[in-house]
Amino acid sequence: MPNLVLSSPLKGWIAPLDETPDAVFAERMLGDGLAIDPLGSTLHAPCDGRVISVHATRHAVTLRAGNGAEILMHVGLETVGLGGEGFEVHVKDGDAVKAGDKLISFDLDLLSQRAKSLITPVVITNPDAFQIVRREQDHAAAVGDFLMELAPIAGAGATLAVAEGEVSREVIVPLQHGVHARPAARIAETARKFASEVALVAVNRRASAKSPVGVMSLAIRHGDRISVVASGPDADFAVAAVVELIEGGMGEGAAPPPAAAPAAVVEAVRVAPPSEPGLLRGVMAAPGLAIGQAVRFVSSDIAVVEAGAGAGVERAALESALAQVRARIEQAAAQSALGGDTARKAILGAHLAFLEDPELTASAHRLIAEGKSAGFAWRRAVGGYVEALRGLGDRRLAERVDDLIDLERQVLRALSGEEDEARALPPGAILLADELLPSQLMGVEAGQVAGFCTAKGGPTSHVAILAAAMGIPAIVAAGPGVLDVTEGASLILDAENGTLRVGPDAGQLADAQTAIAARHERKAAAKAAAHQESRTADGTRIEVFGNVGSLNDALAAAANGAEGSGLLRTEFLFLERETPPDEDEQARQYQAIASALDGRPLIIRTLDVGGDKAAPYLPIPAEENPALGLRGVRVSLWRPHLLKTQLRAILRVKPLGQCRIMVPMIASLDELRAVRAVLEEAKRELEITERVELGVMIETPAAAVTADLLAAEADFLSVGTNDLTQYVLAMDRGNPELAARIDALHPAVLRMIAQTCAGAAKHHRWVGVCGGLASDLVAVPVLVGLGVTELSATAATVPEVKALVRALNVEACQALARQALDQTSPEAVRDLCKAFHSKVGA
Ligand code: PEP
Ligand code: MG
Repeated sequence: MPNLVLSSPLKGWIAPLDETPDAVFAERMLGDGLAIDPLGSTLHAPCDGRVISVHATRHAVTLRAGNGAEILMHVGLETVGLGGEGFEVHVKDGDAVKAGDKLISFDLDLLSQRAKSLITPVVITNPDAFQIVRREQDHAAAVGDFLMELAPIAGAGATLAVAEGEVSREVIVPLQHGVHARPAARIAETARKFASEVALVAVNRRASAKSPVGVMSLAIRHGDRISVVASGPDADFAVAAVVELIEGGMGEGAAPPPAAAPAAVVEAVRVAPPSEPGLLRGVMAAPGLAIGQAVRFVSSDIAVVEAGAGAGVERAALESALAQVRARIEQAAAQSALGGDTARKAILGAHLAFLEDPELTASAHRLIAEGKSAGFAWRRAVGGYVEALRGLGDRRLAERVDDLIDLERQVLRALSGEEDEARALPPGAILLADELLPSQLMGVEAGQVAGFCTAKGGPTSHVAILAAAMGIPAIVAAGPGVLDVTEGASLILDAENGTLRVGPDAGQLADAQTAIAARHERKAAAKAAAHQESRTADGTRIEVFGNVGSLNDALAAAANGAEGSGLLRTEFLFLERETPPDEDEQARQYQAIASALDGRPLIIRTLDVGGDKAAPYLPIPAEENPALGLRGVRVSLWRPHLLKTQLRAILRVKPLGQCRIMVPMIASLDELRAVRAVLEEAKRELEITERVELGVMIETPAAAVTADLLAAEADFLSVGTNDLTQYVLAMDRGNPELAARIDALHPAVLRMIAQTCAGAAKHHRWVGVCGGLASDLVAVPVLVGLGVTELSATAATVPEVKALVRALNVEACQALARQALDQTSPEAVRDLCKAFHSKVGA
């Protein structure tokens, strides 16, 4: 392969990378390269190639040259916090570019005021395959002047190419979103069943197929041609199994050509609204309002020396540090499981999976063998994966980066024998940090911290999930201004509005204090009255139930005054296992949950898999649109033996009649009839003659507009507003870009609910809501006004929903509903509902 010459992408002063005031670049964690102090304001392509990733915040771009070299150009430092302000991109993912083509223009003046530094690193991110053999340095350059020359590393090709004796097959990746976390985990799971070494080779990178992180780090995209290679006793079978899995699409279907794929989304996108002095804006990560004082949370740098003290010593040190961290995580996970803390347990489980990734440790061991210290090797190995995950252009994967960084830190601490210093926090501490790691938040007691706000981070990161579970109000992605707040400054953190007010005046403080006190009082009063029957002020019975996904949820719902459960999501029993649960196991679990509810009604939803919830034993064929594919009742009717087993298990719960059955994703009456036929068969087999209620979920527009037809045969109707909203608005409920706009209070969704209630009324059937809207206090009055008489909310919100219902008057709710149906936007409905809610004052 010939050498590749890169020309300067910018006019400016070329400096060594070491001069970059950011350890990630200066320590070459992302690879070797140069830095340019810009004098021009347009970034150009340094060679011919293809754009493989443009950051959503427009400040960085990665190109892949024809020979496979990957070049990351990052305009300025910490410029992600500008949320795209001051940048214009001229290319998109997948574009072919010629040397000199414009990539990004930027506002040099704005950057010089707002960015940490203008210095622009140009880095080769696959340093295993290329080395810089000649470079310009300490020199002024114009666009197009010589910058550096890259040579392929001798021997790298040999390890990448298929070696003699290896079995190999090529496959073109059909997965719509490329090989992200879930498919990578499934590939690794399949590969680990074989004794042979199994690897994937993509362009000029190779990774063990047994390592989920390694597979993810290949950044395999839709349409890529890759090879599956194996060597060993069962190599043929291993290759065939992995190829079949990938070709099958793993339920993730085909997509338009890569050029049409959306631009990379790496960090939370923040479109900065007009700024107001003393007010920082970010994105809510966990709800709540807090007053407190600024406490800067700085993670001290952990220094590592590069040179090792001998491979044997370093290897042993790394193994011992890994074992220490693994033991600590396992112990914490066991404690979380005992305490029923599912969020914490799941996060710790994810950390363990990363820690046990064979490719990650192998990559550290390789560096140790080259003479590096254990700490340096571990940092470099993790750093490679961090960059690969960031480069995948998938926000959910990018948000797993903090888990990796967390592990990097924990292992480095174990290696140095030091613990993270425990800090005494002042009362009302609001932590301010660049980023917060899950283990750092787990290290504080729930009552110690009033809230936190980070410059970076994303709303679905693990630290956000933890904050919500711990009840700590939190904001992420608030930009670098967070780090300029003076230690000890007085703050108001309003998570729902995504704002952090620095140095509030007396009036603002008083308002926040009143709001917090009122919230506490409301919650305490609601909790105290949680076990009273739920009726409106004018005497209409509105049942308030709790949604349940495990035995612990059922216990929590009952403790919070739920009058039953309007939705048991049975998927908890079926996912993440190799075979489905048998009838006995299901019957035992349903019985335990029914008993926890102590005779209160329990609505058990039949299995709702498919779409984004895959079960390995259900080989759902590749689908172009999984959300519109085989899911919910369609899966049950496709595999009726699974349905029959589930129905038999439900029928065995005592007392008979406590459990009602509900069918998800109904689109037509035929489906209900087919389920009823299986139910009747199961009843006959078990010699049950009593009536068992069978209801439908209203989650598709088809079900809502034919509610009168469904109600003729269904015993009840329950609206799943999460799915109904996504299908009515044609907005993917899991798409973070649409998160702010997919609001179930859209008048179109409300009209569907109105039609459902009208259809049900014709046959005297009741309508409930078990989707997220039932837990939204602002929405409850309008639901009651539309004719909903059962609300199944999250266990935590049950007391407040009950208190609110008690304050309602049905006629007033009906008037509100009529007005809401005539609004032209979800924002207008929300404003109307907020005004009503604050008048009711519950
Ligand atoms: C819904 O769609 O509103 C619902 C309750 O079901 P799930 O969220 O489990 O899809
Ligand atoms: Mg649903």
